[in-house]
Amino acid sequence: MSYCSTRDPQLQCSFSQALRAGLAPDGGLFVPQRWPVLPPSSWPANPTLAQAATLLTQEFAAGDTLAPHAADIAAEAFAFPAPLTDLTDDGSLAVLELFHGPTAAFKDFGARFLAACLQRLPQTAGRTLNILVATSGDTGGAVAAAFHHRPGVTVTVLFPEGQVSPTQQQQLTCWGDNVQSFAVRGSFDDCQRLVKSAFVDASLAQQFQLSSANSINLGRLLPQAVYYATTSLAILRRSGQSASFIIPSGNLGNAVACVWARRMGLPIADIVLAHNSNHGVVDLLRTGAWQPQVSVRTLASAMDVGNPSNLERLRTLFPQIDALRDAVSAFTIDDAAIEKRIREDYRRYGRVWCPHTATAAEAYQRLPSEQRRRGPWVIVATAHPAKFREIVEPLIGREVAAPESLQNLFARPSRYRTLDGTLESLRQALSS
Ligand SMILES: *Cc1c(COP(=O)(O)O)cnc(C)c1O
Repeated sequence: MSYCSTRDPQLQCSFSQALRAGLAPDGGLFVPQRWPVLPPSSWPANPTLAQAATLLTQEFAAGDTLAPHAADIAAEAFAFPAPLTDLTDDGSLAVLELFHGPTAAFKDFGARFLAACLQRLPQTAGRTLNILVATSGDTGGAVAAAFHHRPGVTVTVLFPEGQVSPTQQQQLTCWGDNVQSFAVRGSFDDCQRLVKSAFVDASLAQQFQLSSANSINLGRLLPQAVYYATTSLAILRRSGQSASFIIPSGNLGNAVACVWARRMGLPIADIVLAHNSNHGVVDLLRTGAWQPQVSVRTLASAMDVGNPSNLERLRTLFPQIDALRDAVSAFTIDDAAIEKRIREDYRRYGRVWCPHTATAAEAYQRLPSEQRRRGPWVIVATAHPAKFREIVEPLIGREVAAPESLQNLFARPSRYRTLDGTLESLRQALSS
């Protein structure tokens, strides 16, 4: 199976080349050249995450050096569960909990899958692979955790100075060894721009073997389709219906993975994007015109993205605005509504949402009643609330217990340096 750039169908490469490169040489994103056909009848009765991941990897890596390793990669990346828990007795509303990994956010799946893949690629002549990652909060922690202590790889984490929560910052800066962390003077979009310009800079490419672990990397996206596969198959089995998902969205990686799963034939009906006050995608669907925005800070900080990279993948699938409107709908949820939803759902269901998950829970409330009745609906819970305890605890009036994985991270010493948002200072940082 081969992959091409969103900007040039002629620019083709293999699965492992796409993973190693991260971004296509023309600045586009890699997308599959054809889609595997995987309707429900082609799946085992009740696949585990690891089984589904093996199957998908075999399809996407068909003919590639990584294909024989599919089962090992899947087992390594999907070593923790993604439980589906009901919110109502009638099965009309459930929560997909994607926060049971080492850094308690859904990005653990993608980061661990990518790490397991990259480690199995033949090394180029003893050169260290430099993973550059721009993070609005959660990516960096998940990527650092996934690559920490892996030989032959270093990780450079760039996060916007002063714009991540203290708990998040701890997870970005507590690693050491082969992971170095930088607070960039700027926004997440500045961090992302810096990473993108590093990849297209010829002299940096000569000096370092750079790779990306952001959700622009195909190796992050593909594994995210796995839990949409298992969840939609489980819901079909129990209800005979296709599941609809509400996905807290920023850079649109998680949402594109769900769209890809549906494209391959999995039983998925509606896909709803829950955005915070960064409403560019909502505006696009309403007006038909794309206007990249300067990101604004919100309580759901991992979604503070003004110019989502993966929109390019979405537009490649749906170039016409009407096709895009058929494919997804979107809501923008402001901070006040996030806070209100966390309070109300704690009272109503006894469940505690992180601010990101709360945008999806709020979007569910705002669905037109006809659409809501079509159900069953799944709210995608992207992070554990303890990661955002500073925000959540005052709203619900009690402490949120951290899972053991997070407690371990909280106990480590924090180390980082600051960085200007220029390519030159990044070059120096990489050299030091
Ligand atoms: C990254 C992140 C999101 C947004 O996911 P995208 O794939 O960037 O759209 C939502 N919630 C949490 C907790 C995240 O870490």
